Amino acid sequence: EPIKKNEEPEKMPPPSAVKGKKSLAPQELNKRNKRLSCVVKPPEIQTKKGKFVEACRPNQKFYEMIQDFRETLEITPISAIDQIKPHRICVCVRKRPLNKQEINRKEIDVVSVPGNGALLVHEPKQKVDLTKYLDNQIFHFDYSFDETTSNDLVYKYTAKPLVQSIFDGCMATCFAYGQTGSGKTHTMGGDFTGRQQNSANGIYALSAQDVFTHLNHRKYSKLDVSVYVSFFEIYNGKVYDLLNKKAKLRVLEDDRQQVQVVGLEEVYVTTPEEVIRMIQAGSACRTSGQTSANANSSRSHAVLQIVLRRNDRASTLHGKFSLVDLAGNERGTDVSSNDRSTLVETAEINRSLLALKECIRSLGKNGDHIPFRMSTLTKVLRDSFIGEKSLTCMIAMVSPGMTSCEYTMNTLRYADRVKELNGNLKSSG
Ligand code: ADP
Ligand code: MG
Repeated sequence: EPIKKNEEPEKMPPPSAVKGKKSLAPQELNKRNKRLSCVVKPPEIQTKKGKFVEACRPNQKFYEMIQDFRETLEITPISAIDQIKPHRICVCVRKRPLNKQEINRKEIDVVSVPGNGALLVHEPKQKVDLTKYLDNQIFHFDYSFDETTSNDLVYKYTAKPLVQSIFDGCMATCFAYGQTGSGKTHTMGGDFTGRQQNSANGIYALSAQDVFTHLNHRKYSKLDVSVYVSFFEIYNGKVYDLLNKKAKLRVLEDDRQQVQVVGLEEVYVTTPEEVIRMIQAGSACRTSGQTSANANSSRSHAVLQIVLRRNDRASTLHGKFSLVDLAGNERGTDVSSNDRSTLVETAEINRSLLALKECIRSLGKNGDHIPFRMSTLTKVLRDSFIGEKSLTCMIAMVSPGMTSCEYTMNTLRYADRVKELNGNLKSSG
């Protein structure tokens, strides 16, 4: 197949097209030409061996193009000593490793994380004349975590600063967003050893641990507060209490626009171990009574709240941290079903994720209109979207495989919009 060099459309824009506060470093710009030469492979490299391998792995050509591209990338992995800047709205992305099945299927990894908040998707494409090329798209976030990053490190950059904030009287939220199977529950609830979830390893538990560390710290010794935990699920716009046998609860708004989940269990806790046991029990409750594995939990939002209340007669609210394992964001078209209840479910999920995005965006703009009434999720989190003392962090999870490419792009675009970064480098034509 004769391929001429420089025949491909240019995928990286000229430097002047780079908008937003984040841009490519000069040395990266100098590498542009080198990068482009990797997009199209000179024909002489197409060895017999290469063709043989291609027969075994359907996307061998794309695999090689991505490998070549990666060789040109300068990698600065995130480390535990990097400085943690406080953000009112923090948006980051985490890539999970290819899993066993994906490796067995010889799925190729199309996501690269060069560091410094950048993430690249190498989208395999084909021209009308069947020439293969990569559409390389770069996104910039506050942090980008590659597939080797542990929950501990992700925690340090995302939820940890928020734990501190609730002691200062803030209302904080942390969201895990992404398609089903991208690692939301792994990140929030803890990693798995086989089927067993290690609840002590997730952001839920790490946050709880830190809450008690702060509580016992000299700095906050004058702060006379107690810790309470609630854990609930929102499915199809209805709230179910995970700490009370999935009791269905009503959401009410009083005349001062205060939203209440009526009858929600708020358990007084004194140790992180207690919280971990509750996470374990609540998670088990979440998945019980399901027909197909993971089906229901991927269609519902799970919310763990760690609440600080003053030890006064009214138990006045001091600060609150809501940690949310969101429903899978895959689109309705993907649901291979014409079952009406599934369609209703999908519409509800889409509405709540849209509402969430709008609420965070208006928080970022200090807007006076917060569209929290659009969904149950945003209704119950209403007091976290208003005022000076609201802080939020979104962790967008992505799967690395080529077959997830479209979902990955959807997730990244959503995350980009949440912060209106506009630093997204795309082909200008
Ligand atoms: P989600 O909650 O988004 O549907 P899960 O958290 O259940 O996805 O993850 C799907 C699978 O991928 C699980 O088996 C999980 O253990 C694995 N996984 C997810 N993220 C990682 C990671 N960062 N490292 C290793 N395995 C992961
Ligand atoms: Mg999950």
